[in-house]
Amino acid sequence: MLRLFYCDQHAIPLPVGHKFPMRKYAMLRELLSAAGWFRLEAAPFAARETIELAHDPAYVRGFLEGALEPRVMRRIGFPWSEELVRRTLASLGGTLAAACDALDTGFGGNLAGGTHHAFRGEGSGFCVFNDIAVAILRLRAQGRARKAAVVDLDVHQGDGTARIFQDDPDVLTLSLHGHNNFPFRKQQSRIDVDLPDGARDAEYLAALDAVLPRVAAFAPHIIFYQSGVDPLAGDKLGRLALTHAGLAERDRRVMHLARERRIPLAVTLGGGYADPISRTAQAHANTFRAAAQMFGSLS
Ligand SMILES: [Zn+2]
Repeated sequence: MLRLFYCDQHAIPLPVGHKFPMRKYAMLRELLSAAGWFRLEAAPFAARETIELAHDPAYVRGFLEGALEPRVMRRIGFPWSEELVRRTLASLGGTLAAACDALDTGFGGNLAGGTHHAFRGEGSGFCVFNDIAVAILRLRAQGRARKAAVVDLDVHQGDGTARIFQDDPDVLTLSLHGHNNFPFRKQQSRIDVDLPDGARDAEYLAALDAVLPRVAAFAPHIIFYQSGVDPLAGDKLGRLALTHAGLAERDRRVMHLARERRIPLAVTLGGGYADPISRTAQAHANTFRAAAQMFGSLS
């Protein structure tokens, strides 16, 4: 049975009214645990030296020791705490483990991660470290995978990932996002698709279909899928208007590509801020149902 990694047992203490939807991670794990499609395992912690493959050592040390300047923590958007450090290391460790599973079995998944707004020397937008960037550079350092593609379908541009791999010919970054959504200063991915406010299922899927062949043509040794569900209609931090069915179809198209081309696929979460948050948790669960159907025994 395929497995997924979780880290929601490391809850971050947040001030009342904070926008980060801590609850969705536990809700998602409950949904998947009830469904029984996957074995669920606590994510291991990532090691400091591994994180430094993608991040400035002074930034890594500053975060781990709680010594970053208030301005830097404000940009991340979380108050520093020991719990935040543990959760961050486990979220990163889950993606590293999922990447290894992907190479070993064809599929790996992390019920966290996708922290694509993190740059080499600073974090932003609820992202401390860039888990996908760290995982790509670790697989490369280990000689396990040289070429990687990042398919980032969160409604927000994967700006940190784009920047980290800007001059790296062995990493194809694809970001399909809302033009008017954060970050307002976009970076340059290898492939950027800007969607207008209110874009619905058909327009979104057509835009995805137009660029997925370029991912296949790149012939990566692994694909990282940042499966943020904040393109969902009504998301508090998104401006698109997809349905649950549209998001599930999007997931299937990415997974289908990986399966047909026999490219290992590592799936991470991403954003999702619907009200009620159960709508977001359901959309994430649908992603993993699609994975169970495509790669597991569920039909
Ligand atoms: Zn997002």
